[in-house]
Amino acid sequence: MTAKPILAVGSIALDTIETPQGQRQEVLGGSATFFAVAASHFAPVRLVGVVGSDYPEEGWRLFRERGVDVSDVQQVPGSTFRWGGRYSRDLTGRETLFTHLGVFEDFQPSVCDKNRRTEIVYLGNIQPSLQLAICAHMPEARWIISDTMNLWIDENREELEEVLGKTHIFLINDEEAAQLTGHDDLEAAVQWLLAAGPSVVVIKQGHRGAFLAMNGARKHIPIYPRARLVDPTGAGDSFAGGFIGHMADHNESPLEEAVIRGAATASYTVEGFGLEGLLQAAPEGIERRMKTIRGLMD
Ligand code: AMP
Repeated sequence: MTAKPILAVGSIALDTIETPQGQRQEVLGGSATFFAVAASHFAPVRLVGVVGSDYPEEGWRLFRERGVDVSDVQQVPGSTFRWGGRYSRDLTGRETLFTHLGVFEDFQPSVCDKNRRTEIVYLGNIQPSLQLAICAHMPEARWIISDTMNLWIDENREELEEVLGKTHIFLINDEEAAQLTGHDDLEAAVQWLLAAGPSVVVIKQGHRGAFLAMNGARKHIPIYPRARLVDPTGAGDSFAGGFIGHMADHNESPLEEAVIRGAATASYTVEGFGLEGLLQAAPEGIERRMKTIRGLMD
């Protein structure tokens, strides 16, 4: 593989999910897990994270099968991060039932010498203090791409703004962008974010697609329209995996293509509970869905 490696930090979790289509208890999930599975189609992934003594062998097997480098994933005594969520009838709204940080509470990330030289860094959704700790380990990073969520906007705004200051590309969903910036208007939110550090902002708009903003240019990218919606958990991180995987694998390609790959990758994730949908994705199918999305664009 000629693609550049990606170093990624985020949650490695056991998720409990309720949607109108059914429920799952303690299935493999977490922002880093979805990201790693999605990105590993396109580029080598080096994961940074922590799991507890209860983390199942199935999780390690998944990473092994995908060639994900887990040298910087620590296993320590205690409970793996757990998250529970319930979706609204039309799957557009989500209520968090619980967030148990477990071993993430005292996590001190470390990055081995080999991995410190990685140029592309994904700061997935996790406490902003941990995202900052990773930045401190990565002096050679050329691209820092980050994501976040409402909990951290509420509880750790100052650190989150510091993360933004170090970020080149910021990915965020539309509701969280409004919460973080105080602007419901998309363009106003984008302007606020671009003034806070990143040179590129991608607003994820759920079933309405994604909005790419940089250098005065703006582009809306639609979703893949034929996905069978079962469980949206992890769609954002899978989008990031496709997006950054594309950057790592295509040096000079326009970022619009990276957004299209992100959207095509995420369209698999929503088709099953937890990782079930994403695990059905293969590069050829993703390419076909990218073509469909391109066909919908002006
Ligand atoms: P997404 O649907 O893309 O927002 O991602 C859902 C994933 O994020 C789930 O697998 C959760 O385990 C994980 N998650 C939920 N809340 C948090 C949080 N506060 N910090 C880190 N990861 C989280």
